[in-house]
Amino acid sequence: MKRNVLIIGAGGVAQVVAHKAAQNNDKLGDLHIASRTLAKAEAVIASVHEKSAMKVAGVFKAHALDAMDTAAVAALIRDIGVQIVINVGSPFVNMTVLDACIETGVAYMDTAIHEDPSKICEIPPWYGNYEWKKRDATKAAGVTAILGIGFDPGVVNVWARAAADMMDKVHSIDIVDINAGSHGKYFATNFDPEINFREFTGTVYSWQGGKWQENAMFEIGKTWDLPIVGPSKAYLSGHDEVHSLSANYPDADVRFWMGFGEHYINVFTVLKNLGLLSEQPVVTAEGLEVVPLKVVKAVLPDPATLAPGYTGKTLIADFVKGEKDGKPVEVMIYNSADHKEAYEEVGSQGISYTAGVPAVAAAILVAEGVWDVGQMVNVEELDPRPFINLLNTIGLPSYIKDDQGDRLLQYEI
Ligand code: NDP
Repeated sequence: MKRNVLIIGAGGVAQVVAHKAAQNNDKLGDLHIASRTLAKAEAVIASVHEKSAMKVAGVFKAHALDAMDTAAVAALIRDIGVQIVINVGSPFVNMTVLDACIETGVAYMDTAIHEDPSKICEIPPWYGNYEWKKRDATKAAGVTAILGIGFDPGVVNVWARAAADMMDKVHSIDIVDINAGSHGKYFATNFDPEINFREFTGTVYSWQGGKWQENAMFEIGKTWDLPIVGPSKAYLSGHDEVHSLSANYPDADVRFWMGFGEHYINVFTVLKNLGLLSEQPVVTAEGLEVVPLKVVKAVLPDPATLAPGYTGKTLIADFVKGEKDGKPVEVMIYNSADHKEAYEEVGSQGISYTAGVPAVAAAILVAEGVWDVGQMVNVEELDPRPFINLLNTIGLPSYIKDDQGDRLLQYEI
């Protein structure tokens, strides 16, 4: 049994993690939130109290922290006595936070792959460049490190494993992510613009025919027939989960598809072609050195401000094809989240909601010992059943559609 949680970061996803952790503080114990800007961490706690989200009376404290400083993270962990760290800061802080968890022997989890701010789209598999290099150290310390436990990556990896467990052989895993919501702004990204654009400016890597295939963004589009949101066009995109699922299911094709409207594609293309999405610094005529991508981030709406007026739904699905008893089988597992309902419950839009709730579910399973595996894992390496059952009860139910119909996915354990 592990207790007491430190949340790192105080952005959109951290807001959801804080509310859901508070709703389950009987299982998780003391709660702490640490971020670069103390006022943002304090605002998150204030919103938790505004909604009376704490299930039982308990501790919830804010701290200022530079998560790029391993020694500072380790000192805070020791000082406040937490046994679980949920890292939902920027992906640039993953390795320093992981190092601090290894040093102090506490459980670690994140929702995105580590990134070096000066590099975009490194060599696949991306986990091999940073996280997997720490596998031995993590195991030697007996530290549970769960990589990528948001929605995608995260729940979609769990679904892939759940579908694979229903088959003798897996032929393909296609993950489709559609946001059919509207924030009403001319242009905005649903999470950190810097991270959002970095996802789509590099090579699109997919795993097909047992090797990496390279494409350009928006080169390959396909219309998917989806429940709730209807037929939706999505484009083959690079994404974290392809880089672990391809290692765990090397004989299957693994692809990620993201939905984009024409307007997003137009604005993105103009910004990219002008060089405004570059992570490399430029010098202005006045001698000022600026990173174009950081300037674009500074002028776009803060994603956290989109939540109050956001309407519509998200739809994320795994389509998995394979064989069972010599016959072809195909399943779709999916979830739909509502932006307005997410805002009413936790004060965030649906994208942050779908990323934050799974991290708290994982923390509960670690606290209860169910997922406390004492080593580094990608999510599809864990038993999917307790996680899917728990998510069904805390706001993100999974549905399955196959030749037996369309129904809630629930396990007898
Ligand atoms: P935000 O940009 O809203 O929040 C990031 C937070 O991290 C901010 O509070 C920021 O502080 C803080 N931070 C950044 N650098 C440091 C540092 N050096 N020390 C301490 N705190 C720091 O991002 P989101 O909440 O939208 O996303 C959080 C994470 O979740 C990201 O890794 C993102 O990629 C991931 N994500 C995963 C999804 C999934 O489904 N798997 C979906 C959506 C997001 P400050 O406010 O001061 O800048």
